[in-house]
Amino acid sequence: MYDDNCVFCKIIAGQIPAGKVYEDDLIFAFHDINPAAPTHILFTPKIHMESLDSVNPSNIKYVSRILEKIPGIAASFGIAGGYRAVTNTGENGGQSVPHLHFHLLGGRKLGLLG
Ligand code: 5GP
Ligand code: ZN
Repeated sequence: MYDDNCVFCKIIAGQIPAGKVYEDDLIFAFHDINPAAPTHILFTPKIHMESLDSVNPSNIKYVSRILEKIPGIAASFGIAGGYRAVTNTGENGGQSVPHLHFHLLGGRKLGLLG
């Protein structure tokens, strides 16, 4: 549930400050500390799970909730003309924090890789 060595678990628990955007019983969303676009929000499950590779029938509800909430939150940030929701998985996938998260990026024209 909570990993002592995980920066995102600490953010979710309120032990490290972050710009909270949204929270409910399953998920927590906050502004990326190093934004790659005018809007860059990270969506995390409130339990520690490493990546998309960790998804199974008992925890898919966290991912479902993230995908359910992204469009409305994107709209609330006024991202006109579209956005990107992406999760990097593993070392070769560019994942640097091993707690599953979806990036919501928008507010500028995005290229294939960013
Ligand atoms: P990844 O590379 O794993 O797909 O994405 C990790 C993201 O987490 C990066 O965009 C990075 O800027 C962000 N990040 C890392 N540490 C922190 C932190 O302590 N606070 C916040 N708000 N974002 C963080
Ligand atoms: Zn964690």
